[in-house]
Amino acid sequence: MPARWEERVPPSSRLPGFYKLTPTQRAALVGEAMGLSADDLAALTPDGGLQVAQADTMIENVVGVYGLPLGIATNLTVNGRDVLVPMAVEEPSVVAGLSYAARMVRVGGGFHADADEPVMIGQMQVLDVSDLAAARLRLLAARADLLERANAVDPVIVGLGGGARDIEVRAFPSSPVGPMLVVHLLYDARDAMGANAVNTAVEALAPEVERISGGRVALRILSNLADRRLARAWGVVPKEELAIEGLTGDQGVRRIIEAYAVAVVDSYRAATHNKGIMNGIDAVAIATGNDWRAIEAGAHSYAARSGRYAPLSAWERDADGNLVGSIELPMAVGTVGGATKAHPQARVALGILGTRSAREFAGIMAAVGLAQNLAALRALAMEGIQRGHMALHARQVAMAAGATGDLVERVAERLVSEGVIRLDRAQAVLAEYDE
Ligand code: NAD
Repeated sequence: MPARWEERVPPSSRLPGFYKLTPTQRAALVGEAMGLSADDLAALTPDGGLQVAQADTMIENVVGVYGLPLGIATNLTVNGRDVLVPMAVEEPSVVAGLSYAARMVRVGGGFHADADEPVMIGQMQVLDVSDLAAARLRLLAARADLLERANAVDPVIVGLGGGARDIEVRAFPSSPVGPMLVVHLLYDARDAMGANAVNTAVEALAPEVERISGGRVALRILSNLADRRLARAWGVVPKEELAIEGLTGDQGVRRIIEAYAVAVVDSYRAATHNKGIMNGIDAVAIATGNDWRAIEAGAHSYAARSGRYAPLSAWERDADGNLVGSIELPMAVGTVGGATKAHPQARVALGILGTRSAREFAGIMAAVGLAQNLAALRALAMEGIQRGHMALHARQVAMAAGATGDLVERVAERLVSEGVIRLDRAQAVLAEYDE
């Protein structure tokens, strides 16, 4: 009997040369590391993946199944555990960027992450209340009874230690439709994302909230601003990791902090900064069958919580001159429920991640977001310089191969465009021109 997925940990997420393998070889290697069965591996192929008949039970008016590349990012370590990261994404450089950044942070001890208890917020809109303040106090006084009623709805979640945690009542004396109360049910969804669980609970509570408040409950729905369910991650990049030809590690650290600073002062840049973070988080959410629109809504509304849209991560220098990154954002992810088990590839992707709980998963997601952000900042702040240096280097190699006059530039350009800046290649290119 193979070990449960969540008990499996890859011997290492460092898989040198992984990128050089074929997709089948890569799948076999990951399968071996995580103890995937032949059926699991088959689920990663179009024939074994989501079938039209199954898709037809998931949404309406199905005409087919839509494919996306599924890649595995390597090198990630979170809280001392190596993690292989499945990512479904159409954009190039996302998987490579995460792998590259994770390797730099790995040298600095890997990512550290934690997450709050998985508490979601369910909202009830109460209209036609004659005295908002008095109704609010009556609802708060009925807290224990309301929590008990909410807990009667989902014995599975309550049995797992989750369920209703608290009631909040917010009064809005003026709105486009007059005074209203918004009642919050705080609900621990355990390993579920929790939307269905919370929606069911607030629907069940609504009649009692109407009775106590004397008002009329209209909307009953969870809030995607899941700010009771925050995930955080931080990590150190030793400055030496940021040294490239022509730039010291100290300068590399400074360049990245400078690039981050634009996002601090300018929301136009913060939007793109956060988009880079979500490149990684969304790709993992999609691969694992999680609701990425919910995670997106939570991230961006949290980024705007001060009234001004701001970056979700921060980059600074520590006392030793190394680069330190940190991130905090809502993370409503599940390892059960939704499409996580119904979608064959999502099930396998969760197995590859080997997460033990939604909370651990949330911490990994935060680390993925921070690593993706680092990859983007590094590329933006440093690669321009590297490209310039490569051009310079290519000219030197062209001259070493014997090029003179105009040919120096022409050979160098060929080497840069081919990405092969070697003497033997320069000689071969030069021979072509000499003919
Ligand atoms: P769900 O209802 O499919 O699964 C949750 C249920 O699984 C729980 O109620 C519980 O009975 C059971 N369960 C078994 N083991 C559990 C464990 N260890 N921890 C917790 N529960 C366990 O899913 P959900 O997470 O309640 O809802 C997610 C779905 O709701 C997603 O598909 C999402 O797209 C959708 N949704 C989202 C929104 C929104 O974000 N605004 C609104 C409506 C629906």
